[in-house]
Amino acid sequence: MQALSRDTPVIFPVAALEQHGRHMPLFTDSLLLGEIAGRVEAQFSTRVLLAPLQWLGNSQHHLDFAGTMSATPRTYLDLLAGQFENFIAHGFRRLLMLNGHGGNDVPGKQVVYELRQQHRAQPGLLLLFATYWDLALTAPAAAHAGLQQTRMGHACEWETSMLLQIAPQLVGDLAAVPPVEFGNAFEPATRGWVMPDRSPPGHIGDARHATAEKGAALLQVFTAGAASLVQRMLQWDGSSWEG
Ligand SMILES: [Zn+2]
Repeated sequence: MQALSRDTPVIFPVAALEQHGRHMPLFTDSLLLGEIAGRVEAQFSTRVLLAPLQWLGNSQHHLDFAGTMSATPRTYLDLLAGQFENFIAHGFRRLLMLNGHGGNDVPGKQVVYELRQQHRAQPGLLLLFATYWDLALTAPAAAHAGLQQTRMGHACEWETSMLLQIAPQLVGDLAAVPPVEFGNAFEPATRGWVMPDRSPPGHIGDARHATAEKGAALLQVFTAGAASLVQRMLQWDGSSWEG
């Protein structure tokens, strides 16, 4: 570790342990993100540093369902900031917080904002936050001709397909899972919500269409997108705004 170049990109995966309906395991987000992060690391070998995955997420909106564990939003903000700060303290300059859970989006972005302000005198500090399903280079729905959903839901066609690919023994009976529409919750406003507001069974989307083949295709486009971002981190000149 001491010999490692401090220009080595650090990938810090952040996920969750929360309810995923009645057909998917609590650890879904951590399993899927761990798979993608591991595949990215395998592509780059020793040119990147993959940190252990943070499994505790900001999952307050799932707490009405058994099994969910969550850090309160402000605690989560400080937790992530403290962990990201560790890498800065060790001298690393190119940091990516790679996210696999929707509830982490706001606090994760706040962390990279706040830490950049706190370390404002340090040049060449690259602090990135990205959610894996936003990184695909082409529309994920085009990854497989049979995909029905056009965006990520929750314990949905996309997540269920990916888990069928990597851990099918953890997926329950999909025929019994009712479809839950995404709806239009006062868009483009952002509505605060708890899961019972929109889904009594706890999932969003239509898992009945999930297949392992679709999951393989989705994992491939999400891994390629994340790897592309890491490649840009590697190629960054260390000072310019563009990357
Ligand atoms: Zn999930």
